[in-house]
Amino acid sequence: MSVLDLTMLGTGSPLPSPQRCGGGQVIAGGASSILIDCGWGVARRMQDARIASATLDAVFFTHLHSDHITDFADLLMTAWTGGRMSPLPVYGPAGTGATVEGFQQALKADVRYRLAHHGEKLWSGGVACEVHEVEASDEARVIATIGDIEVSAFLVDHRPVVPAFGYTVQRAGRTVVFTGDTVRCPSLERAAAGADVLVSEVFNYELMDRRISLLRATHNDLAAGLLTDAKEYHIPPKDVAEVAAQAGVGHLILTHFIPPVATDAEEMQEFVAGMSDIFHGKMSIASDLDRFEI
Ligand SMILES: [Zn+2]
Ligand SMILES: [Zn+2]
Repeated sequence: MSVLDLTMLGTGSPLPSPQRCGGGQVIAGGASSILIDCGWGVARRMQDARIASATLDAVFFTHLHSDHITDFADLLMTAWTGGRMSPLPVYGPAGTGATVEGFQQALKADVRYRLAHHGEKLWSGGVACEVHEVEASDEARVIATIGDIEVSAFLVDHRPVVPAFGYTVQRAGRTVVFTGDTVRCPSLERAAAGADVLVSEVFNYELMDRRISLLRATHNDLAAGLLTDAKEYHIPPKDVAEVAAQAGVGHLILTHFIPPVATDAEEMQEFVAGMSDIFHGKMSIASDLDRFEI
């Protein structure tokens, strides 16, 4: 029996993709399960994965970029109407409280309608949350213990997004490290050291440049300019492979693909070309709904 079960819900980014939703993954161990990030499509992917949102014990946000948060409204609503009877614990960087309140505000009328309609069948607390804005530093530090799953946060470098976190999830001697969105940075290298699994975002400059050229050729200068800026705060395949190799991780799982190439597309081989020359452990190119036993 596995110690931790990881379900990839969204393996994409803010860029529209029919195959890859925004960031999100459930990690379960023992009787507990947590969600890390809740980007666009993640609540829907939970239905596909047959994971009831009402059963989640806590939600963790790595940072407050839209592709990591915007399905939170549907997560709250499906959890509540799915039978949740207590405030949902939510952990994240400074600003998480205001973001959560914004979602709750958007749902306020709906909660009122449904309570008026269904009465005591639904919990009167509606979409209440118990928000924990946490501080992190370059060294991973335990910020929550959910059942017997221990979650530590560390700062990563996704400037101008400050603060942005990576997370370390541990249970019974097994460790999974999530990079969040970041460039290569010493805090990530230290947190990844010795991890059983590293779940890393990845950004391929060459494939992105090809898309930028196409956009410029069709005079879509705004989109081309935004994609050019995106290069400044993500981690390229070679750096991911080097971090994983230096850290000695057993299994590298790639996610948050920018650009969002489909796993079975020919371009994906180009995306990850050269990584296995640097990192010799097991490497997985995740798709939405992939599951991994750890
Ligand atoms: Zn992102
Ligand atoms: Zn981001």
